[in-house]
Amino acid sequence: MSIEIKNVSKRFGDFHALRDVSLDIASGELLALLGPSGCGKTTLLRIIAGLETADGGSILFSGEDTTDVHVRDRNVGFVFQHYALFRHMTVFENVAFGLRVKPRGQRPSEAQIKAKVTDLLKLVQLDWLADRFPSQLSGGQRQRIALARALAVEPKVLLLDEPFGALDAKVRKELRRWLRRLHDELHVTSIFVTHDQEEALEVADRVVLMNAGSVEQVGSPQEVWDHPASPFVYGFLGDVNTFQGRAHRGELHFEGVQIDAPEHAHVQDAPAFAYVRPHDLDVQRYAPGAQGIVAQLSRAIVVGPIARLELLPTEGSPAMPGGQDAIIEAQIPAQQFRESGFREGETLVVTPRRARVFVKEAA
Ligand code: ATP
Repeated sequence: MSIEIKNVSKRFGDFHALRDVSLDIASGELLALLGPSGCGKTTLLRIIAGLETADGGSILFSGEDTTDVHVRDRNVGFVFQHYALFRHMTVFENVAFGLRVKPRGQRPSEAQIKAKVTDLLKLVQLDWLADRFPSQLSGGQRQRIALARALAVEPKVLLLDEPFGALDAKVRKELRRWLRRLHDELHVTSIFVTHDQEEALEVADRVVLMNAGSVEQVGSPQEVWDHPASPFVYGFLGDVNTFQGRAHRGELHFEGVQIDAPEHAHVQDAPAFAYVRPHDLDVQRYAPGAQGIVAQLSRAIVVGPIARLELLPTEGSPAMPGGQDAIIEAQIPAQQFRESGFREGETLVVTPRRARVFVKEAA
């Protein structure tokens, strides 16, 4: 089922939780709503579900306005962060629940319920836990059961609100791969809310970046990563160093440093910001006349295959919004760091890779 969200807005008192949000979601798509805490992701999901009403705008399911359709009749399945499994019911009964409460006439027979629940438990690879109670499951297992329960009634739309938010990093990683595979099998139109950019980029067909109640960008994971629409998007998708300078005739001028502007930068003779990710900085030992940002290595932390370098810009380095406290973060392969022999306190030169710099005119 396709979903159209048209100019939806929502206020709580004076607070604008959603401002004129429009989105088209194709049938069978897996869409991630990504953004910082409080940007309106859950509110939008609840409006799609019919658990909350919008102040303005409309939601269409397969072209039909849902405004007056009760949540019960929307054919929507939910999975929330805090697994709402029934504690006094076994796993089997939890998954069977939605089938048992169907109105008489639509309710499947006991044999059909058994077959359906068994199939679903196999689908989520937990059929061996059918007789357990929720308290006897791990967090990851509970979320898979919650998903099986949501799928039991064959929803046309699946809404997941931070489904793996309460789990530890390793389990989250496993479950998101699993969710992607499951979606590829079932093709139920699905929307999941997350504030974890890695989760959104890894799992979704398309990512919707939200900020302060508005949509900043919609695109495939690669589109939003390679062509961020705004500094907000760029910054939200990963760590970033920000430098302040001036764009002038295809070059970016920062105090003491000049680099060729990347191709997308059309800024001409205007104050500009340059944004660079830590792994898009080249780092070398300082030598007189070196071209680049001169900075002192204040700390180096090796985390597995990566060395994270914290550098203090020296006088004459480009201005950074953090002022006195600003540090430059660079990431290089741990192997390269070991071979370089860089020592804390040493002066280094940092150069942004031109093609990887994101430039925006200062407002
Ligand atoms: P999080 O990632 O923290 O869950 P979110 O992006 O899902 O955040 P929402 O839960 O949609 O954000 O909330 C958006 C804003 O609306 C927040 O500032 C929140 O405090 C406010 N809000 C949400 N529900 C209500 C409510 N029932 N009454 C008043 N304010 C609300």
